[in-house]
Amino acid sequence: MKAAVLHEFAQPLSVEEMPTPEPGQGEVLIKVAACGICHSDLHLAQGEWDLLKPITKTPLVLGHEVTGTIAALGEGVTEFKPGDRVGVPWLHYTCGECEYCLAGRETLCAKQQITGCTVDGGYAEFLTAKASHTVRLPENLGFEEAAPLLCAGLTVYTAMKNSGIQPGQTIAIFGVGGLGHLAVQLAVDLGANVIAVDVADDKLVLAKELGAANTVNASAPQAYKEIKKLTGGGAHVVMVTSGSRAAYEMALRSLRRGGTLSIVGMAPEAVPLSTVAMVSGEYRIVASAVGTRRDLRALLDLASQGKVHCRIKTCGIQDINTVLEDMKLGRLVGRVVMKI
Ligand SMILES: [Zn+2]
Ligand SMILES: [Zn+2]
Repeated sequence: MKAAVLHEFAQPLSVEEMPTPEPGQGEVLIKVAACGICHSDLHLAQGEWDLLKPITKTPLVLGHEVTGTIAALGEGVTEFKPGDRVGVPWLHYTCGECEYCLAGRETLCAKQQITGCTVDGGYAEFLTAKASHTVRLPENLGFEEAAPLLCAGLTVYTAMKNSGIQPGQTIAIFGVGGLGHLAVQLAVDLGANVIAVDVADDKLVLAKELGAANTVNASAPQAYKEIKKLTGGGAHVVMVTSGSRAAYEMALRSLRRGGTLSIVGMAPEAVPLSTVAMVSGEYRIVASAVGTRRDLRALLDLASQGKVHCRIKTCGIQDINTVLEDMKLGRLVGRVVMKI
């Protein structure tokens, strides 16, 4: 099969032939139809994340927003049949037995395996996945449209839930990229008042189209003052979907007293925090990592009702290095999905 393979960190991926994997016990073989290109893929390929670099396998097929059809079943798999339309998310495997799995927080499972990181992912014509962690796609969702929901969509869906945002409250969403443009839609659907914040005007235009009540260009160092003014004191929740330290610094200054900072985007460098500001504002910080299978099913359900649409552009497997380069330069609007 054809695959885009990472052989060495910080080097271009190589599009090459490799053996088609075979499904083991409890696994399915999936013929990939589409795979979203996530910002995490770029960080992983660059070897930029200290926590993930040591567990990233090489050579590696990246990609954890995979959709396709069941091509073959491993031993013991009864819940799927060939031809079923499915998706494969970031969590390739969780143990189901530890305190976190049992408490419905499988994203914290220490035994987790990660699609396109610790095991091969979907930048390929085929991949194997655990049947237990493979989800069915709603009939009315196309493969390409559904792919980014498996990570980008799930991540913001879960973060939104964990942030505690209530209808009528204001949420400022920093970063209107792959994650942020989905966050805007989910927040609007919840009945929140959305302020979209980005440094790129075209992304702010998109946010308006998606229902944001206000937009703020964050290039000006005093932009947080505009957010304070628009909200009469700050946003109830500020969600940062970009991995930029500057965004986090401004986000903290945009919070309302008693507000919640929702950490989604991962900045490679540390973010300084004023404990004085934290204490006097009684701020809460909530971080969340992708989401569980239960949340994923709930999100796919919302998407099948038309509540959330991912703006996508498609590319071919041979375009992957160009797309990753554009992503590095912040040139992408919405999500790029690889059509296999
Ligand atoms: Zn991702
Ligand atoms: Zn576990």
